[in-house]
Order: sequence, then C-alpha cells, then structure tokens
Amino acid sequence: MNLLIMGPPGAGKGTQAEGIVKEMAISHISTGDMFRAAIASGTEMGMKAKEYMDKGALVPDEVVIGMVKDRLQQDDCKKGFLLDGFPRTVEQAAALDETLNSLAIKLDGVINVDVPLDKLMARLTGRRVCKGCGASYHVIFNPPAEEGKCNGCADELYQRDDDNETSVGTRLNAYMEKTQPLIDYYSKKGIFKPINGDQDIDKVLEDIMAAVK
Ligand SMILES: [Zn+2]
Repeated sequence: MNLLIMGPPGAGKGTQAEGIVKEMAISHISTGDMFRAAIASGTEMGMKAKEYMDKGALVPDEVVIGMVKDRLQQDDCKKGFLLDGFPRTVEQAAALDETLNSLAIKLDGVINVDVPLDKLMARLTGRRVCKGCGASYHVIFNPPAEEGKCNGCADELYQRDDDNETSVGTRLNAYMEKTQPLIDYYSKKGIFKPINGDQDIDKVLEDIMAAVK
C-alpha cells in the first residue's frame, strides 16, 4: 500500500503516521528525515539540497523531487510507503505523479487528518513552557499539577509568542490556503480520504485503516 498523509499543524498527523506505518508494516518517508539522511550519506541530490540550506534558501522543487525519487527506489519502499511532508503544492504533486509514473508506482490513497479550526486553535495555543527548565506542558492535554507552575522545578510557566492566537491563526490560515488546491487535486483523482481527526487517537487510526482498505 502506497500512501500519503497530510494534515494541519496540531491535527496529530505525526502520531497517526507512526500508527499507520506500524500497523501496515510500510516505510515512513518523512521529508525532514529524508533530507537529513540524504545529506549525511552524501548523495548527489543531498549535496545539492545542502548547498541551498547552507545559504538559508528554500530547496527548489526539482531537488526535493530528486531526493524523493532516490528514496522511493530504495528496497524498503517495495513493501509500501507513507509519504509525509510532501507534496505541499499542486506543482509538487504533479511532479510527484510524474516521478511515480516513471517508476511504475501507484499511489493508493491520500489521507487528510482534519480537525476543525477552533479545535486546532485550542490545541496549538494551549502550550506552556517553564521559564526555569524549559519543560513543556499543555493546559488541556498535559497540565501541570499546580496551575502555572512547573512540576519539576516549581518555576513559572509562560506562553511563547509563537503559540499566541495571532501567530497560530496566521500559521493555520497560511496552511489552509496552500493546502486547499492540493485537496482539490487529489479529490479529482478519487484517492482523497478525509479523516475526522477530532476523536480519540485510536479511533482516528481505526478510521484511517478502514478508509484505505
Ligand atoms: Zn521547570
């Protein structure tokens, strides 16, 4: 089974990706990990990517797609894979299709872990960090024993600027705007699988399994 997973920040995509690759015994291709591995092993595409990253520039699509192509040809992908973190735009999706075609690989499903905006907002703005030791808490999912106080060092907890409503709202809106065309693209192909991510973690995984079977 060859799958792709997408989802906004805070939707629990990472947790679900772990569950899927374990349950289906397929390879997890996360673009972040793939970049690190390609650079560490010094592949041609890895070195090209490094050049851009060292300059602080965005790695161009053809380099990213080149790395994905290299990665898809590795042995462990024969049993199936879950692509995670790529594509992010319709242009990249079209390039991915071309690459998959050239390798005679079929994409079986595109999983989209969906959570309503207000819920995402609550999840993403609930993080609190300890001023003393840097420990991380969440007002809903991982609250400290005493409100506003670190369990470990008893120092004060605060909300980082990145986690306030304005920053989170900007981030989410940018994500939605960029992703909608991608959703349309895969819907038209008939392989788009919207999943309700606003449920118990195990239930979300169960729904994913049912959707791709
Ligand atoms: Zn602390």
